[in-house]
Amino acid sequence: MSLTQRILIAMLLGLLTGALLNAIYSFNVLPTAISTSLDSLLVNGIFDTVGQIFVRLLKLLVVPLVFVSLICGVSSLGNNSRMGAVASKTVILYMATTAIAIALAILTALLVKPGQGIDLAMATEFVAKEAPPLKQTIINIFPSNPIQSMANGSILQVIVFALLVGFAISRAGDQGKRIGNFFNDLNTIIMKMVMILMKLAPYGIFCLLAKLFADVGIAMIMSLAKYFFTVVFVLLLHSLGVYSIIFKAFTGLNIKTFLSKLRPALALAFSTASSGATMPVTMRTVEQRMGVSKSVSSFTVPLGATINMDGTAIMQGVATVFIAQAYNIGLGLEGYLTVVLAATLASIGTAAVPGVGLVMLVMVLNQVGLPVEGIGLIIGVDRLLDMTRTATNITGDAMVTTVVAKSEGLLYTEVFNDPQTSVDEAV
Ligand code: ASP
Repeated sequence: MSLTQRILIAMLLGLLTGALLNAIYSFNVLPTAISTSLDSLLVNGIFDTVGQIFVRLLKLLVVPLVFVSLICGVSSLGNNSRMGAVASKTVILYMATTAIAIALAILTALLVKPGQGIDLAMATEFVAKEAPPLKQTIINIFPSNPIQSMANGSILQVIVFALLVGFAISRAGDQGKRIGNFFNDLNTIIMKMVMILMKLAPYGIFCLLAKLFADVGIAMIMSLAKYFFTVVFVLLLHSLGVYSIIFKAFTGLNIKTFLSKLRPALALAFSTASSGATMPVTMRTVEQRMGVSKSVSSFTVPLGATINMDGTAIMQGVATVFIAQAYNIGLGLEGYLTVVLAATLASIGTAAVPGVGLVMLVMVLNQVGLPVEGIGLIIGVDRLLDMTRTATNITGDAMVTTVVAKSEGLLYTEVFNDPQTSVDEAV
């Protein structure tokens, strides 16, 4: 069985096991003492421990991978650097796809009206945290101490430092070459580590999903079905519709091949709900299975994981309309345009970890004067939506990466079209 198949089976088994355990708890099928020990030994014991260890192992690779591979990528571009072109195309595409995502979300939600007739009393309490001001967000991109940036996992700061080091290496003659070779070797080793960890993915994914679905009952969805399925519908529309059009128009390649090669990364995004933790696998997928040159992916993938969150923006668009409808507040065209702008900026500021999209929604709601307590209405299903939107987030990163690489002549189409690179073990 291929790794992809094993991962998909693990997802399914995890989901079923979790749902079964949840049903056992909810309907008191077993005596309380047995249920309690099942919960503490299995769900909060084995599943939680293995799941958390797996996510930690993935996260462990993020800083070294971003730092080393970006240095390799930039230094290999050499003196006649196309970095400026790569960077501007990437940022423009990331922004544009996010704006399209929110507009799509708002329009769909206005048509479906998920918030109409919602009982405001069902809101759980939500304590809003202050979002950082824009000026500080911009200043924070630049590190004052690279070691601290790495220790804190501030990816944008690590990117800035690595760009500088890589650029300097490409201009430092023989010394630069020597150090460049060292980083290239290091990069090969880190990529091997990603590969080794992927072998553990089926176990990690099974435990993460079993724990999650044991804790979060699917019944929760029913009370908010309209909101939940509106978000899921727009996520699918964006990932399968908008991305296909852009991908086909700019690369002429087959989107089915793209999506099928992305499957392991998608499974990981879904079960970890973190584009940050998934990043090493996204990077490996676009480089080794899709044929994107490292000089593009080493920049675009970590940048995307940090600032490009179309799925998150979609949730924020639908949630804003939902809350406006629930509280019976009209926003008007100007209000919705403000939402598009605010949610695009919010998605840049959203950290690539579970649940932050909801925290950033505070900023969007504040911009248009909607009650922040409204978030309490949707919090119950947010964990489930977080998983789905994270999968969209990483699809966007990989799609833009491939498009930019193709436009720069840095996509090896033989690798993209080679069915052999679909087999995980082969690469
Ligand atoms: N979990 C999302 C991600 O990592 C962010 C969010 O929407 O909360 O991409």
